[in-house]
Amino acid sequence: MSIPGSLLCGKSRAVTVQLIDGKAVAKVLEAEVAAEIARLGYRPGLVAVRVGNDPASEVYVRSKARKARELGLAGTELVFPDSLSEVELVAEVTRLNGDDDVDGILVQLPLPKQIDPRKVIDAIDPAKDVDGFHPVNVGLLHLGRAALLPCTPAGVIRLIESTGVAIEGKQAVVVGRSDIVGKPVAALLLNRNATVTVCHSRTRDLAAVAREADILVAAIGKPRFVTAAMIRPGAVVIDVGISRVEGKLVGDVDFAAAREVAGWITPVPGGVGPMTIAMLMKNSVLAATGRRA
Ligand code: NAP
Repeated sequence: MSIPGSLLCGKSRAVTVQLIDGKAVAKVLEAEVAAEIARLGYRPGLVAVRVGNDPASEVYVRSKARKARELGLAGTELVFPDSLSEVELVAEVTRLNGDDDVDGILVQLPLPKQIDPRKVIDAIDPAKDVDGFHPVNVGLLHLGRAALLPCTPAGVIRLIESTGVAIEGKQAVVVGRSDIVGKPVAALLLNRNATVTVCHSRTRDLAAVAREADILVAAIGKPRFVTAAMIRPGAVVIDVGISRVEGKLVGDVDFAAAREVAGWITPVPGGVGPMTIAMLMKNSVLAATGRRA
């Protein structure tokens, strides 16, 4: 789904840029999820666990639980004090693993410093791991086998697919190699037969590497890092980055300049962001149908 962008005035360019409308693509996905839930005849249970009062986490968890209920899931928010110990949180996750009404468990990160997030993620039943962070699901993804996929990377793929540009055979460059975005995006692109290059802070001549990309995914966390000169004309550009600059949300791509070169581009906000929660809802339904089959 896309909204045609404007042609350049004055200068001529071969390609008309298309904006990839993440809100619209997310809406389509949410409608699919709601329809699937209506067919199931039961409400899959999603539990979002939050520890402490980090304001951003509060907003994220509340909007996840709200969206879950809106689409017909049983969405519950469990809130624990900042003082919760690692042992107590792991015990809570273990309890949720054993609760038959719970299909999906997500533990909102970051956690207070006394809790090692890896221990908590490792404790989640992989079949209920709707964030797709458990090592079993990460392994399955890298083996190209069915898994609960991490939500933001799965959303990135859905956005690329929405353009109608085939992934197979394309040169894809992913800038960023984090466990939650860069690496899984690269694995998903590779699984779809792209030729994938992953760039990071030690990459030499990143601009030259990025310019080879038919599909360029930026997941760095550095506002406007990707300039127009790093983009191959006509490329699909997906901007995962979110930074706040002077009170405004800004991506990793210099959007105003990049849209003059790219063939397709996601805005920030309104690109990748809306896909993450939609994919979480999809994963909750997948977890429910997988467990209850
Ligand atoms: P992260 O864990 O901080 O990883 C950043 C990656 O970028 C690292 O691999 C790092 O390389 C690389 N990098 C940093 N500076 C670089 C540079 N100058 N040149 C090349 N590579 C560089 O970040 P993340 O969790 O992946 O998140 C990335 C961005 O996406 C953030 O803005 C985050 O807020 C956003 N995000 C958005 C969503 C969403 O729903 N839209 C979801 C998740 C994240 P090294 O490995 O070499 O250090």
